[in-house]
Amino acid sequence: MTRRKTTNKTGLSRIDGIKVHDAWIGYICLSCEVLNNIHIGDKLLDPQETYENAIWECEWCDYVHSKDSDLPFDNWSDDFKDSESLQAQRFWQGFFRIATENRESYWKQCNACSRIQPFYSFSKHSGWGPLERQMECRACKGAINAVLNPLRTAEQHHESSVRRRIADLLLEGENETIDIKDLFKRFDNKCFKTRKVLKIEERGTWAIDHILPSKFLYPLKKSNAALLSSEANSNKRDGWPSKFYTNNELIALAKITGADLTLLASKTPIINLNIDVNKCVERYLKVREKSDLAKRISELKKIIISYDLQNQLSSKNKKILGL
Ligand SMILES: [Zn+2]
Ligand SMILES: [Zn+2]
Repeated sequence: MTRRKTTNKTGLSRIDGIKVHDAWIGYICLSCEVLNNIHIGDKLLDPQETYENAIWECEWCDYVHSKDSDLPFDNWSDDFKDSESLQAQRFWQGFFRIATENRESYWKQCNACSRIQPFYSFSKHSGWGPLERQMECRACKGAINAVLNPLRTAEQHHESSVRRRIADLLLEGENETIDIKDLFKRFDNKCFKTRKVLKIEERGTWAIDHILPSKFLYPLKKSNAALLSSEANSNKRDGWPSKFYTNNELIALAKITGADLTLLASKTPIINLNIDVNKCVERYLKVREKSDLAKRISELKKIIISYDLQNQLSSKNKKILGL
């Protein structure tokens, strides 16, 4: 199989010559019990016609699967094995029906890994060939989706937004008010990422990047704020700076803001432990007094544990959180 050169953004080569609509038959040889696959094209077979006409020769042992063949089962009596017998004919009818009657019995070749696999190895794709299945198997699809759609599952997404919200609440009161005019001046009235010129009076077009994200417990401060266009900011969201900015940008950013370059350039997020956790927790519980406290405590507990902040809690707060 030759692999075509490709520049597609999944980094995955499609394999030439695999017809993405085509179906295959799969059957286990009656004689040697090895799997055989037969390419049949984009029209499924009729069970009765197949029974009458099929001559499927095993690739491995040459046994011919046809209604005219005697059955090769050593433990069956001769009157069952004889192809002329009613028993053998009923067997052959069933044999060909199993392989052809339902869409689910067919097989398909994956266009990414080239394996021929059963129907259920492929996800649905309406109107696509007689099997209505996608061109790549679910395993390959998983790999492709990891590249095309790194935006996590809905559950992870929810988890992450809950965490951000709680972190924001914890940090309330730790944040500084940002002097916008000063921010524009320091960033030369430009989006730090795209270099697009921004106007302070066009409020929807720019945003303040919380460089080290609140999700990891960094308050908004002059040294932790960058000027970005709205588009650039929505791409960065609450990502760690080294995931979004290039090395040169990080160096320039540290120069403008006075932030710690080592921290900005860290490959993995670092939780900010330089906050007064007790004060944050008390403030959080007070602010949220009137809403569903039990739920909020359990959410808070999760973030405290996953950020390993238990030891900074007073015994009173530990007790409140049940830690
Ligand atoms: Zn065989
Ligand atoms: Zn595959």
